[in-house]
Amino acid sequence: MNDVAFLSSLRSVVGDAGLLTVEAEMAGYAIDWRKLFPGKPLAVVRPKTSLEVAAVVKACRAAGVTIVPQSGNTGMAGGAAPDDSGRQIVLSLSRMNTIRTVDPVGLTIEVEAGVVLAVAKQAAAEKGRFLPVSFAAEGSAMVGGVISTNAGGINVLRYGMTRTMVLGIEVVLADGTLVNGLRRLRKDNAGYDWKQLFIGSEGTLGIITAAVLRLTPQPRHATTAFVAVESPEAALALLDKAQTEIGEALSAFELISGPSIGLVEQFAGLKCPIAHADWFVLMEATSTLPGLKHAAQTLLEGAFEDCLALDGVVAESEAQTRQLWSLRENITESEARSGKSVKHDISVPLTAIPAFVAEADAALQAATPGVKLNVFGHLGDGNLHFNVLVSAEHDAGLVNRTVHDLVARYGGSISAEHGIGQYRVNELQRTRSAEELALMRQIKSALDPESGLNPGKVLPKGGSAA
Ligand SMILES: Cc1cc2nc3c(=O)[nH]c(=O)nc-3n(C[C@H](O)[C@H](O)[C@H](O)COP(=O)(O)OP(=O)(O)OC[C@H]3O[C@@H](n4cnc5c(N)ncnc54)[C@H](O)[C@@H]3O)c2cc1C
Repeated sequence: MNDVAFLSSLRSVVGDAGLLTVEAEMAGYAIDWRKLFPGKPLAVVRPKTSLEVAAVVKACRAAGVTIVPQSGNTGMAGGAAPDDSGRQIVLSLSRMNTIRTVDPVGLTIEVEAGVVLAVAKQAAAEKGRFLPVSFAAEGSAMVGGVISTNAGGINVLRYGMTRTMVLGIEVVLADGTLVNGLRRLRKDNAGYDWKQLFIGSEGTLGIITAAVLRLTPQPRHATTAFVAVESPEAALALLDKAQTEIGEALSAFELISGPSIGLVEQFAGLKCPIAHADWFVLMEATSTLPGLKHAAQTLLEGAFEDCLALDGVVAESEAQTRQLWSLRENITESEARSGKSVKHDISVPLTAIPAFVAEADAALQAATPGVKLNVFGHLGDGNLHFNVLVSAEHDAGLVNRTVHDLVARYGGSISAEHGIGQYRVNELQRTRSAEELALMRQIKSALDPESGLNPGKVLPKGGSAA
């Protein structure tokens, strides 16, 4: 089938409004958020319904055209970007943006894949319920992408990753079959829990078209503290203390390095509200019950007495809470404005974080002298964004390998939450065992034998054969 006939078959499914073929109109879909992977799609297809998605997948399969699913295109690993062959289509879920139901008693929300995460959170909040998945890109990321990356964010410590919030999904398989698993059940042991395969699979196994997510009661009280600490060891000791004293109310515990705060001061125009230090902790506790502020103040007083905290502030108002969080939320954008960086989204066992940070810093300075670090992340989850600011003379590949080799030695993961996409395909091959990689290829091969869905993402191109 030639391109004209193929595009016309797509147009007959999604209509004129659902098909973009002009380069200027496709530009925003053709490159990833970090602008590392510029691509050249044959077309951008924007279905309105699950049945249209299924029909598009069938048409692509018949024409031998591969598909790159895309939701909000905020992914950090280039997973949603097409290649530059001009032979792939981007399948954008952005027009599938209906919130179907919010059930405040059953604590569920059912949404289409293109609903923006912040919009889903707002719909839950309007019924007095809470969708805990939270991160800086929530105003653009969409539920389909959030599930496909198994996004983490700032509330994992208390609520878990996105996976723990997914009760059911609807998915279009690589052959165009539509499978409806939109159950709202908390308990369901009837057969294999197949939805887990699609969660976090970055569009390589199927296309998620809708989901039922678990909600929680809306916390009505929150207290946020920003604390300067001497070292990651002190931050870890503070986490231990917070877990003992505040327990399950502790919802976020973020570690932020002094240079990260320097970046947001320089590039986002924000001001650090306490004395400058080498490390900071931003922590939040939330509850439906009152009394948290007193608990946070007592925690902080104890931390000063134990010499764990150098300086600190507990937010006095909603506005101050927003200011404290904006320090954390602006790090990624500020880093992007500061120049070139090599990003690492790593996790190691929690108690190994201080040793890892020290060893990685020393190893990098030895291998690539002069690099600067921008380290921040979800300390409570053992997850750091261990980003390295580099100039033209630095070998980005060497930086990457130096950090990941150390991660492997610590029994960690080279992708705690951002995924593999195309950015980390080679590093996944280097750092996982032959047996694990063979198992991944078998899964890909079983669900997408022709490698029509997002080829070259997660696994290398041509790597689907078991
Ligand atoms: C400023 C900033 C901060 C961030 N902070 C965090 C953070 O704290 N934690 C975190 O985990 N991530 C974070 N991210 C990364 C990103 O926002 C998340 O990965 C998000 O979940 C991606 O959602 P999206 O809708 O943009 O997906 P996309 O970027 O559109 O897609 C991501 C991947 O999922 C696939 N995909 C998309 N939609 C579907 C679908 N419907 N079916 C099947 N596959 C699909 C794509 O092919 C791609 O591989 C951040 C990003 C930015 C820009």
